[in-house]
Amino acid sequence: MQQYTRERIEEEEPMFFLLKDLIECFECEQIIKGKKIKRLGVKIGVYQCDNCNSVKYGKEILEQEVINQANKFFNDILSPMFKEFLSRVVDEQASIHKKLEQELDRVKARLKNEIAQDLDILLEIEDVSDLPEAVVKLDQELKKITGSYNRMKDKWFENIETLKELNSFHDDFQESIQIIDEEMEETLIKELLEDIIQGIYAMSKNEVQIIFKHPHIEGMGGKEIIEFA
Ligand SMILES: [Zn+2]
Repeated sequence: MQQYTRERIEEEEPMFFLLKDLIECFECEQIIKGKKIKRLGVKIGVYQCDNCNSVKYGKEILEQEVINQANKFFNDILSPMFKEFLSRVVDEQASIHKKLEQELDRVKARLKNEIAQDLDILLEIEDVSDLPEAVVKLDQELKKITGSYNRMKDKWFENIETLKELNSFHDDFQESIQIIDEEMEETLIKELLEDIIQGIYAMSKNEVQIIFKHPHIEGMGGKEIIEFA
């Protein structure tokens, strides 16, 4: 009786689908669900498209491949080479930032000058639409440059932060390490995957593409292809 109860509990334990909500069918654009199926009396997990039945992969093999590729991507973005690249990017951004700052000062000075010149008119106007054209134009230019300047600053600061993190990472770990360890909690593995995966696309029954993204740096990522025989 006890034996029976224990087996029942084990069987009812839910299967954890690591790639839930991460994988999409390229053909029909549906999110692919994880399913439990019975094969030779044993329950196994598969990822299968509801619309395209041939788009189907064994749970274990696909998850393992994704983890392998994810670890490779982590290694790339944590490598000293990436750090060098990033520090070059940061230097470039610093100089762009400086230029935008100067540009901003110039436009501000011109606007002040224009306002001083038009002061008599400005004091008389009753509606914004009566503003002198030169003032309106300079104000628009100022807003545009301020926008670029702020966006630039955000990206630059984010890269500086990432660079700092990388530096402390390299102080702690001299050699490359495996970020995702099979022994980790499944939910933690999923979180780590979500940090770096933009999307996984089931192209066909033989091919899956993974689109990676850097967790902090916009527009930086890569594509890996998994092929199944
Ligand atoms: Zn489909």
